[in-house]
Amino acid sequence: MSDNMFRFADEFGPLKVIHVYEPSVNLKAILVVDNIAKGPSLGGVRIASDVSTEECFRLARSMTMKNAAAGLPHGGGKVVVYGDPKMPKAKKEQLLRALASALRTEESYVFAPDMGTNEECMAWIRDEIGRVVALPRELGGIPLDEIGATGWGLSHAADVATKYCDFELTGASFAIQGFGAVGKHAARFLTKKGAVLIAASDSCGTIKNTGGLDVNELIQLKTQGKSVADYPDGESLDRDAIIDVACDIWIPAARPDVINEDNLDRLKTKLMVQGANIPVTHAAENRMSQKGILYVPDFIANAGGVICAAMEYHGANEGAVLASVEEKVRRNTELVLTRAKAENIEPRQAANEMAMERVRKAMSFRRFSTFSMGPHFT
Ligand code: NAD
Repeated sequence: MSDNMFRFADEFGPLKVIHVYEPSVNLKAILVVDNIAKGPSLGGVRIASDVSTEECFRLARSMTMKNAAAGLPHGGGKVVVYGDPKMPKAKKEQLLRALASALRTEESYVFAPDMGTNEECMAWIRDEIGRVVALPRELGGIPLDEIGATGWGLSHAADVATKYCDFELTGASFAIQGFGAVGKHAARFLTKKGAVLIAASDSCGTIKNTGGLDVNELIQLKTQGKSVADYPDGESLDRDAIIDVACDIWIPAARPDVINEDNLDRLKTKLMVQGANIPVTHAAENRMSQKGILYVPDFIANAGGVICAAMEYHGANEGAVLASVEEKVRRNTELVLTRAKAENIEPRQAANEMAMERVRKAMSFRRFSTFSMGPHFT
């Protein structure tokens, strides 16, 4: 680990930071294995041009917390690859095959997809070395975005959280920022539970109708490559107008830091269920309770995807996934919100403490974290 990385070191990690350089294909990548007390680290491979060792560490740490909170036998890790996520497919394949080859013996890390990588990329990695999740269905994978594992979990987090609010889920109005893999399934499942979608947005715009939007029609529009703003029966607004929509539940499912100190006061909602990772800046999140907005933190509410991925890795059937996501997300949402209320702390603090207690407990069973992960981890 470079001196610089020791700045981040604490009781949990990072255990290893590996810089990978392969000049023949111009591969520059970083692997951070944060903590493996609960098992080999699991986290995605992100391709972006502006990544850094620090970002990789922060993402790996958040996987340690998310996997621990979800009760998975995995620690947290992450890989970042320097490059344009939209590079030609042949180039991407070359880079990822080289990456997998370079990390062939790093058994403390299991590959998974993230921004810039998908199921096909995971298939190339499997072909090189195995040790990968989120494979195409043809290779025994469980397509988590197709079945809507994360959106399913969000709908259950919302259901549990309404018990801590002054409204019921049936008849509640909700708005979704980001009508992609996570957002559209959350909309579908919440509507089935009787909630009413009154606004949705994507990178091109917002559509709003307080009388309710037809979720299937919106999904169809997106399948045709159009924007939700093209939906005919509603008010078509600009992209960020979704922030001003008055509703009972507001779901960020797009990008990090979309709610910050500058726009927090525009939110007019009672409950936020965080679908995207870190959708609210630290400073803004600390003011949400004062504003009377309850929230379910990202790694509690959006764990459906990683639960699905881990189940695939351990050989589960597709049919078992949604029941497990439901059970884990409901239980954790309840635990976090009860603790936050009882101790008068932020849900984020309650979630972090819960996850850290689980990692510490797993660490207490081990002599060293760095050496010998045992035969069952290979
Ligand atoms: P996606 O690419 O399928 O969808 C993202 C959607 O957000 C798109 O419709 C895009 O047009 C829209 N968008 C982008 N920028 C926007 C903006 N500024 N305002 C409004 N809409 C915007 O991605 P996804 O898989 O649905 O993931 C969404 C978020 O959830 C990401 O932050 C991701 O890291 C996180 N997440 C995803 C999963 C999963 O299972 N896919 C699991 C956990 C967390």
